[in-house]
Amino acid sequence: MEQQPIYADNAATTSLSETAFQAMKPYFTEYYGNPSNIYSLGRQAKRALETARETVADCLGAQPSEIFFTSCGSESDNWAIKGAAAIGARQGRKRIVTTEIEHHAVLNACRTLEQHGFTVARVGVRADGIVRTKDVKTAALPDTALVSVMTANNEIGTIQPVAEIGSFCREHGVLFHTDAVQAAGHLPIAVNELHADLLSLSGHKFHGPKGIGVLYVRRGVTLENLIDGGAQERGRRAGTENVAGAVGLAAALRECCGHREETAARLTVLRDRLMDGMLKIPGSRLNGDPAKRLPGSVNVSFENADGETLVLLLDEAGICASSGSACTAGSSDPSHVLLALGLPRELARGSLRVTLGDRNTEADVERILSVLPGAVEKARALDRPS
Ligand code: PLP
Repeated sequence: MEQQPIYADNAATTSLSETAFQAMKPYFTEYYGNPSNIYSLGRQAKRALETARETVADCLGAQPSEIFFTSCGSESDNWAIKGAAAIGARQGRKRIVTTEIEHHAVLNACRTLEQHGFTVARVGVRADGIVRTKDVKTAALPDTALVSVMTANNEIGTIQPVAEIGSFCREHGVLFHTDAVQAAGHLPIAVNELHADLLSLSGHKFHGPKGIGVLYVRRGVTLENLIDGGAQERGRRAGTENVAGAVGLAAALRECCGHREETAARLTVLRDRLMDGMLKIPGSRLNGDPAKRLPGSVNVSFENADGETLVLLLDEAGICASSGSACTAGSSDPSHVLLALGLPRELARGSLRVTLGDRNTEADVERILSVLPGAVEKARALDRPS
């Protein structure tokens, strides 16, 4: 009997949950009205959109009026950063503080701001892949418009001290954004406890659909319009709303927050077994703190092996894993996150990210561990100059 493939790349994307799928379906076929229309078909769609907003707000401890639907996590990050920068610029604050390990949606938005006269301080992390609050404090000078630090890293899974950083920002009147795209569904996300003014989510990372994201914007923070046009999203992001997407995102968020603790406990056991097994392979090294990491996330470097080769060899064995973030896959540059940890380029090139999710089992972990040593050996042989 042919073995089922194992999907172990849940940081790249997740499968759509059955609950989210069923919740979305009627909004494609039955209640397909435009929420801006006043007849009943439009009103039904509008009601569904607003119920989805209420659900998201409830899961984050926010008000529905603070929730904006976007098309993805990248869009939410861009709006947050460029919007906060514009607010800062009006007050003569043209400094952004972020970290070296952010997703490219944050890093490249900051790079664009540099081209418009902003100064960007990229705070480094320690060898454990965690930024220190005191380093962020040192970088945050009086002219800082925004501090942006991710809740958890997408490549190595390390959890950042965002509540502490948020508290410092609140005390000093600096806007604080956190990219919670990887953390949602795995860690408790309460905007007040994190002292977040702005927070990004993406539906497809927690078993919702692709093409829908959220930006939480604290009441009192007025971002410039992202898209000018109609009155959708309170006039700030025009365009006919993705009603089915919002309904699916809300259903998935509600569902995964409902069983978050149990899932995290189960995945932590699987992850630790996987991590121990991977580290038994000679010439391996764990990237990131062993405990302060997302429940399903493991990232290991193998000496003298190419990460992309490993990914292809695992694929041949029916296992989907990754050599870094999906956005950098295919580029030969070593990961900026691994370089920020202080890894030599050679080791950074040989990394493998395995991210387990709701559907993974103990049997999956054992199969990965039975295939991986041979794959590493083969990758090393292929890499060896002849
Ligand atoms: N931020 C983080 C930490 C991510 O991991 C990702 C996606 O991998 C994004 C932002 C971008 O999200 P999206 O794919 O929805 O644009």
